[in-house]
Amino acid sequence: MTEVASVLYGREDVRRRVEELGRTITGDYVGREPVLVTVLTGGAVFLADLIRAVDLPVETHFMAISRYGDAEESFGRVQILLDVEDDLAGRDVVLVEDIVDTGLTSRYMLSVLGARAPASLEICTLLDRSVRRIVPLLPRYVGFDCPDTFVVGYGLDYRERYRNLPDILRVDDLAALRADPDVLAPLLTDAAA
Ligand code: 5GP
Repeated sequence: MTEVASVLYGREDVRRRVEELGRTITGDYVGREPVLVTVLTGGAVFLADLIRAVDLPVETHFMAISRYGDAEESFGRVQILLDVEDDLAGRDVVLVEDIVDTGLTSRYMLSVLGARAPASLEICTLLDRSVRRIVPLLPRYVGFDCPDTFVVGYGLDYRERYRNLPDILRVDDLAALRADPDVLAPLLTDAAA
């Protein structure tokens, strides 16, 4: 492990927590068929594991949004690039997020999905960085409370890198990562060893 980043949540912790979330969602939606919607690309890894931990029929959909600026800065000005084609009216919708930070993205997504008259609409986020919240927003399902440090891995990127790291890493030296976005590349091959 380099000093640029360190493991925040290891793969086993993530696996256990995702299974717990899946069990909770299963219990809460028993007898129903929830629609799980995630935002590409960050949420895709979490969604893939989460749906396999839910013992119910589920529908999954992906949305894509544009964002201005880099991943570590959230400006909240977004535009839909890929949308859910199915009718969500009367459905139980769960917005699956990689991380809720300022809450601007989730608020936007909730307004888009909420306008489609779902029977219910909840947020399930793997990471909740509530200390940075601008928009008052309480996700119903939270994997981990995330400290105020940029994170990568398990779907979360830095300039499209590191989504395939099995662990969630906190970036302790963001300046070093900005200076050399590939500085953590050795961890990718370590993970395979
Ligand atoms: P929000 O709109 O809540 O401020 O930001 C949500 C989005 O910003 C997340 O879905 C994610 O794409 C990005 N983001 C926020 N914090 C982090 C972080 O620590 N690491 C990475 N890789 N992306 C983040």
